[in-house]
Amino acid sequence: MARIKNRGTKPELIVRQVLLESGIRYRYNYNGLPCKPDFIFPGRKKVIFVHGCFWHRHPGCKRASTPSSNTLFWETKFNKNVARDAKNQLLLEQAGWEVLVVWQCNLKDKELLQSTILSFLTN
Ligand SMILES: [Zn+2]
Repeated sequence: MARIKNRGTKPELIVRQVLLESGIRYRYNYNGLPCKPDFIFPGRKKVIFVHGCFWHRHPGCKRASTPSSNTLFWETKFNKNVARDAKNQLLLEQAGWEVLVVWQCNLKDKELLQSTILSFLTN
């Protein structure tokens, strides 16, 4: 199944900007990973995913609402997304990678975002 790519959309641009401002180099592609994280830091063996709250079902987030029509369709779709995310994260962790998920709604506070990313990458 093709993965829906949000490459270059706004949430990812914000993270990219934070990384650039912090002078941190990253990659978009890296051979041998079980999936395609949004940002890859091969030297640190860490990856960052930027997840939209709606599609990836941010727990307890008001953006993760379910449309009131075709509920079954949406729930099936969402369940697949969540299962795939969990599987990808597990595979990465089993291969020795550390994973940070940045949620779309956490991008508003750029200072907080920056400190979250920096402490993830430097610890
Ligand atoms: Zn959210």
